[in-house]
Amino acid sequence: MIDTHLHVSHLDAPQRAWQCAKQAGVSDWFAMANDPQSWRDLLALQNDIPFQLGLGLHPLCAHAGQNEDLQQLAGIVSSAKLIGECGLDAGPTAPPLPLQIEALRFQIELAQTQQVPLSLHSYRAVDTLLKQLRLGGANSGVFHGFIGSEQQANAVIEQGFLIGVGGAITYPRAQRLRRVIVALPLENLVMETDAPYQPLMGFQGEANRPERLKIIANTIAELKQIDIEDVIKITTDNARELIA
Ligand SMILES: [Zn+2]
Repeated sequence: MIDTHLHVSHLDAPQRAWQCAKQAGVSDWFAMANDPQSWRDLLALQNDIPFQLGLGLHPLCAHAGQNEDLQQLAGIVSSAKLIGECGLDAGPTAPPLPLQIEALRFQIELAQTQQVPLSLHSYRAVDTLLKQLRLGGANSGVFHGFIGSEQQANAVIEQGFLIGVGGAITYPRAQRLRRVIVALPLENLVMETDAPYQPLMGFQGEANRPERLKIIANTIAELKQIDIEDVIKITTDNARELIA
């Protein structure tokens, strides 16, 4: 299995976490960094453990002086396999949307110059985000931790992006999300934990861990009434292909 979105530098004891994840069948993971501090932390960790490097400026980190951050990002991005986590957030405490869009546009361009996919954060902003992707001609990446309607999911897929399925699906009350995921072909899905964030059902209040990825695979298999091995094989192929 491949965990396509997590924050390795925010895990406590990342090296042990990698050992546990490997034992639980996680063969690779896409490590995201959201701000200058986590870029530095993640780059430093590269010497100790293997991961696919993601570098980006998170929409909640957008700020008036962000141009300096973005220039710094452009300077260190050559080793990144993904640009992320970036995107848009329309939550009540999020920075002004124009600042978020400015940072997003910069990173869409960066992804195209580097020819790498985007790992996208979207909170109540799927349509606005899709519009920016279309404007920028972006057509490769993942809507991480996707939450939205089936219609929005189809528009995401139409734009060339994969749907990232995370811990939210393990909650029975997430009925709408569960219906959307059931309706989508496995060929359009990848799995993720977003560890240490987004705790799974039964682990609320705990730091999330990448070895729990199999619970997400199992939930997808149960909901779709298919073999878990198929879920694992196809989502893993999708993830591999994304960064190939
Ligand atoms: Zn994340």
